[in-house]
Formats: sequence, C-alpha cells, structure tokens
Amino acid sequence: MVNLKNLKLGEERSVIREIFEYGNARKKEIGEENVFDFSLGNPGVPAPPEVNGEIVRLVREMPSLKLHGYTSAAGAPEVRAAVAEYIRTAFGVPMSEDGVYMTCGAAASLTVTLHALCEEGDEFIVLTPCFPEYRVFIEGAGGKTVCVPTDRDFRIDLHALDAAIGAHTKGVILNSPNNPTGVVCSEGELSALAALLARRSAERGAPIMLIADEPYRELTYGAAVPYPMAYYPDTVVCYSFSKSLSLAGERIGYIAVSPQCACADALFAAVCGAGRALGFVCAPALFQRVAAGCLGRSADVEEYCKNRDLLLAALTACGFECVPPEGAFYLFMKSPEPSAAAFCERAKAHELLLVPSDGFGVTGYVRISYCVERAVIERSLPAFRSLAEEYGLLKNG
Ligand code: PLP
Repeated sequence: MVNLKNLKLGEERSVIREIFEYGNARKKEIGEENVFDFSLGNPGVPAPPEVNGEIVRLVREMPSLKLHGYTSAAGAPEVRAAVAEYIRTAFGVPMSEDGVYMTCGAAASLTVTLHALCEEGDEFIVLTPCFPEYRVFIEGAGGKTVCVPTDRDFRIDLHALDAAIGAHTKGVILNSPNNPTGVVCSEGELSALAALLARRSAERGAPIMLIADEPYRELTYGAAVPYPMAYYPDTVVCYSFSKSLSLAGERIGYIAVSPQCACADALFAAVCGAGRALGFVCAPALFQRVAAGCLGRSADVEEYCKNRDLLLAALTACGFECVPPEGAFYLFMKSPEPSAAAFCERAKAHELLLVPSDGFGVTGYVRISYCVERAVIERSLPAFRSLAEEYGLLKNG
C-alpha cells in the first residue's frame, strides 16, 4: 500500500520534537516561565534589520507578478550571480553562478547534493556526534552511512577517518561550526583533512567529495571558519540562511558546487536533475531575493555569545563538564551518569528539557540549545544547581 521505508520514517518518533512537544504541553500546565526548554535549534535572536528592509523594498519596488512568480529552477539568475560574487569576494575562491543552486535550506541542499552524487553501493562518512538527519538524507538517496567517531575533544580523528575510507566511499560530510558540539574546524585541521582526502582520492583514481554543511558559518565567537573550497577542490557547500539570518521557517539556502571539482559541470547538472526529481525547484522567490540582499549579514551573534558565556560559566561552576562551544548555539555537556536518557529524565523533573546525545551518534552527553531568551537561562540556573546537587557534583553545597 505505501512505501515501507518512508512509513517507518514517518512513524519514527523524533526525540527532539517529542521533548519540544512535551515542553509545550507542560508550559500549559505549569506556566511558560516555569519550563526551561533547551530542545530545539530554533533561532532565538531576531533577523537583522536588513531582512525586513529588503522585504519592504522588494514588495514596494518589484512588480508583484515578477516578485512572486516562478524563478528558473536553479534560482533567479541575479540571485545566483550575487551568491557567486559573494563567495568569490568573501572567501577568495573562483565561483561562478553556473555552480549555484538555490534551495529550501540546508536540509534541501544536503538532500539534493546526496541524490546528485549517490549511486548504488556508495557510502558517505559522517563524523559523530552529528546532526541526526544525515542518516535519513543519505539513506533516502540510496547510500550507506558510515559513522566515524571524532576524538575525545570532538575534533576530526584523521586516523579513524583514513581507516574508514574504502572503495565505496563517495563523500564525507563536514559540519563546522558543529551541531551538537559547537566545535569549529580550524585551518590546520581542514588542511590536514584536505590532504588526506586528496591522497586517498589519488590512490583510487576517483574523487572523494567533501560536503560542507554550513548553516552556522557566521555564528562563531571569535574562531575563524576556513572555507572548505579554498582547501579542497572536490567540495560542495550546502549553505542555509536559517540560522545566520534567523529565517529558519522561510526555507532558503543554496548549494555551491566548486568549479574546481573533477566533473563540476556534470555534478551541477546532476544537482539540477536531483532537484527536479525531488521537486526542489525554484526555491521561495521572495526569500531568494531577500537573501541575496543580505549576504554576509547575520543575526546579532553577540546575543548568543552572552547566552553561551552565562550558561557555560554556571554549569561549570555546578560541576558539570562541558565542551566550550566555539560556534553555533549548542552546548554539549557530559551526562553525570552513563545513560544520557536517564539523566534527561531526572533533568525533566526539574523542568529542564535537554536532548540525550544518543541520536547524534554518541552516548553519555546531552545537547543544550541555548538559542533561547536570556531570561530562560537565568531562571533555569537554580534548577541546574539542584540537579547538580542531586548528583553530588556541588561539593561545597
Ligand atoms: N545541518 C545542520 C547541522 C543543522 O543543525 C540543521 C538544522 O538544525 C540543518 C542542517 C538543516 O537546516 P535547515 O533548517 O536550513 O534545513
């Protein structure tokens, strides 16, 4: 009757969504201000003023039929040209509009890219912990997910990666700044990764693609985020404006295929074909143009930085062990007991809604999304303190 693979996916519960729904119900019961929901990565800082400025300008200046009508399948030509020019000037890499495909956010960028690349038997490597949907996207494209754990500081483990690359490896997904750890891949790490991929590609005579998933590129707290295309030719950047411009619900992003890819023209044609097959053509027309007018802008990162500083200092003082985030808006905290799910249940009793790390591909941690109002963090601190006391972490009371 129905496709069983998709039925299973549709019926599967998303742990994050379930916690979020629980939080909404709980807020109705005991009042919004008494529930501390750190589950979702929904941006909590408003879009920069340029976004509304662009919307108003476009609505006033562009004829309605043109503004809201279909664009070309790959995006409006002037938008693709603006994105390519931005990439060239901001990152010093050769990029042309012929390699830019406008999408409905990073999820679509990844899905289309994977469908464009994947052939029967292909494997895609993900570096765990990672965004749980990678598996869904890879397997939906007909590929196999190969998980390679990062090292104890959640940085790329080159030896493990080298060992995992095999005859069927088609690509590696890199997400920096990272969800869920906040780790940013440094220039040295990216160079070493590029050297490894180049060596292994040369050995087998076929490129291993680097798929750079970059929805958090602009959200960093001082760390530089090197541009993967500048280090490795066979790169596809999957970008989204969801987090940088706080436009998660508007569904807008792009795919940038490096012109230095081994078969750049064929790959871009396959991207167009995958977009067509999946129905991901002509991304939202108004927001293509809004995004083009706001390239390089971002929501006020300083606000996320203040949240990070407050939470990191308070949780560390309570005795919790955290990975100091260099970017994105997630704090990855060690669970004081082996089962992160059990810890999250005990946190729930204090109205703290945290996400266990198991879905991200590692055990024993929780993800805390701090893209919330500062007041939520401030009100939550006594609850974290009581939780720490319960686990005997607060030695001095
Ligand atoms: N990749 C990562 C690492 C993410 O965290 C997210 C969303 O949270 C996405 C992709 C999907 O982003 P979008 O909402 O732009 O589709």
